[in-house]
Amino acid sequence: MSFPHLLEPLDLGFTQLKNRVLMGSMHTGLEEEKGGFEKLAAFYKERALGGVGLIVTGGISPNLRGRLTPHACQLSFPWQVGKHRVVTRAVHEAGGKICMQILHAGRYGYHPFSQAPSKIKSPITPFTPSAMSSRQVRSTIKDYASSAALAKKAGYDGVEVMGSEGYLINQFVSARTNTRTDEWGGAFEKRAQFPIEIVNAIRAKVGKDFIIIFRLSMLDLVDNGSTWDEVVQLAQWLEQAGVSILNTGIGWHEARVPTIATSVPRGAFAWVTEKLKQSVSVPLIATNRINTPEIGEQIIASGQADMVSMARPFLADPEFVNKAAANTPELINTCIGCNQACLDHTFSLKRATCLVNPRACYETEINFLPTANKKRIAVMGAGPAGMAFSVYAAMRGHHVVLFEAKSEVGGQFNLARKIPGKEEFNETIRYFINQIKLHKVELRLNTRLDASVLATEKFDEVVIASGVVPRDLVLPGFDDPRVVDYQKVLSGEVTVGNTVALIGGGGIGFDMAHFLCERQSSTLNPDKWLQQWGIDKTYQHAGGLTEPHSDNTDHRKVFLLQRKTSKMGKGLGKTTGWIHRLVLKQHDVKMKTGVSYDKFDDAGLHIRVGETAEVLAVDNVVLCAGQESNRTLVDEMKATGLPVHLIGGVDVAAELDAKRAIRQGAELAMRL
Ligand code: FAD
Ligand code: NAP
Ligand code: SF4
Repeated sequence: MSFPHLLEPLDLGFTQLKNRVLMGSMHTGLEEEKGGFEKLAAFYKERALGGVGLIVTGGISPNLRGRLTPHACQLSFPWQVGKHRVVTRAVHEAGGKICMQILHAGRYGYHPFSQAPSKIKSPITPFTPSAMSSRQVRSTIKDYASSAALAKKAGYDGVEVMGSEGYLINQFVSARTNTRTDEWGGAFEKRAQFPIEIVNAIRAKVGKDFIIIFRLSMLDLVDNGSTWDEVVQLAQWLEQAGVSILNTGIGWHEARVPTIATSVPRGAFAWVTEKLKQSVSVPLIATNRINTPEIGEQIIASGQADMVSMARPFLADPEFVNKAAANTPELINTCIGCNQACLDHTFSLKRATCLVNPRACYETEINFLPTANKKRIAVMGAGPAGMAFSVYAAMRGHHVVLFEAKSEVGGQFNLARKIPGKEEFNETIRYFINQIKLHKVELRLNTRLDASVLATEKFDEVVIASGVVPRDLVLPGFDDPRVVDYQKVLSGEVTVGNTVALIGGGGIGFDMAHFLCERQSSTLNPDKWLQQWGIDKTYQHAGGLTEPHSDNTDHRKVFLLQRKTSKMGKGLGKTTGWIHRLVLKQHDVKMKTGVSYDKFDDAGLHIRVGETAEVLAVDNVVLCAGQESNRTLVDEMKATGLPVHLIGGVDVAAELDAKRAIRQGAELAMRL
């Protein structure tokens, strides 16, 4: 067996988990949809069939005030049990196990009736919570326990108590948010009493043979968070109170340190879990940016943890564990940590799904069933749209010939993967290459598809996925070879000088600035990355933070320019934009908004900001000014008389991203 430690069963005494892989808690949005629990059952069932050892649901509130949003899911009454049974039955029939996460949002509640230990507003929510009275603290503890008892009645194998990420329990434990003077505040012993009483109350209600996982905040990453001694002490008290497993929590939501984005090195926080190993005897789970069986195996084999938690990787591929067990990790659709279709959707109150797997959370709606009408289909372009269409159409039984003009598949993803911190994009290309082979897509590299090909070869349909081309700007002096587009720079065709102006501050402008400034990707060097973000492995200070340090600056002087007067990077991902902005600040990139461009000459780039003219003495100008659809062959293709379909960037270039490109490919494959 290739992953012997990862796939080894874990005996909890009263029950056994079939392997060391936990599917971590994720709110999908189905919880609140009409008929959502049936869809949720299908979602979890596929993951259980895919071999995962234990599933944890998204957070369910133990009472009304603990809800994260006004309509968020709650389990407090017997009449709410029925819908959960649909989920537990489906998972058990598939041979899996599932725990329900109990989450009280505290001051992170996005509604005016939120409650917290003290009346202190969080920096990331607009509502100020009310401070709980002592009676309300006691009744909240009871609510946790009755929610757990109802979860047992609903057929769950256990519960996970959410004690991290800055939610209510964290708010009680930390002096940062708890300024109470009664028996729940003051000294650490008193602040820690809240979670301990919760676990005591739950254990008393559910008996011995029920899993209680406690998600313990082991590294708060905020000022005035817990000290390491407090973390250890609380872990030991929780063990005495009867938890079955301790899961790791990293960073409060309000922390200004990335904890799960793609630029976080793989397994970057496993050392925190390892640090606790010698102090407790219950099994420990390591979390955050674990996305391959190799990294999971390494964490368990080296003794850093007893289990690993992966959440988003199960959106990307429900078959993750089965593929590892079959020793075919190369077939795993790897989560690239982009957050674009999962967390960004959740924060926009949309149903979560996955950029690399549009079926995630749509298991009852998107399916690639065998076709009764097999066709021969020509596909133009092996970017994300063309690759996704080809694989899904071939899966259905169509004969697909995929033409790619270049010598490699991937399209613009081949440029994206060169950006420091975007190395994970390699995995999507690797996945598609293997799927193309597996489903016998006929791939023709270095071959341009045009009407002459269709004149000599018979096809039933044509799919155009020829993508986009960089927008060219026609301005005085812009025909100078020192003015280049982003493709030329990222492909290595052109090397730019030490002072560079970037025209366009969208996703590609930000990526280009990062590419030009960072000598070596710190994502590939975990210790350097921890230093860059001020994370202290020696845990000298409360919260685990220290002064950030980076030796990666002053590589190049870069100006990032846009015409709009709005904040630079406004359109970047909801959960990741702030990281991109901070990285460019670390590299001292000069940002200018409200810019108009006049000309380029030997003095540099002539611009105006408002009425003020300025010359940026730059060696090069790089155009990151958006893109246009690559439609040169569309009319020619339509003239052949064959049915023609457009997907991805060639269809609409505006606001194109890989999420839309892949989804459009999948949806067309489902229809043809
Ligand atoms: P393309 O990727 O442009 O692929 C089109 C393909 O068609 C190319 O391979 C081309 O060679 C081929 N082709 C064209 N004409 C022919 C022909 N006649 N015959 C055969 N082949 C042909 N998106 C995100 O979602 N998240 C990100 O973080 C992200 N980061 C990015 C970073 C950078 C630096 C760049 C450049 C892009 C990034 N993108 C990102 C955008 C993403 O890569 C694109 O949205 C996506 O690649 C578009 O897919 P597509 O298949 O429509 O087109
Ligand atoms: P974009 O986000 O639309 O940005 C284009 C930039 O060019 C804007 O800053 C725009 O700002 C400027 N611009 C547009 N027309 C111009 C003109 N005629 N003259 C001068 N400037 C002009 O597009 P992109 O950066 O090319 O990215 C393409 C897609 O890739 C995006 O939609 C994005 O989703 C995806 N992507 C995503 C990420 C990510 O991290 N999620 C990263 C990279 C790319 P002004 O009009 O104000 O000047
Ligand atoms: Fe992972 Fe991106 Fe999919 Fe979210 S959308 S699960 S981060 S690949």
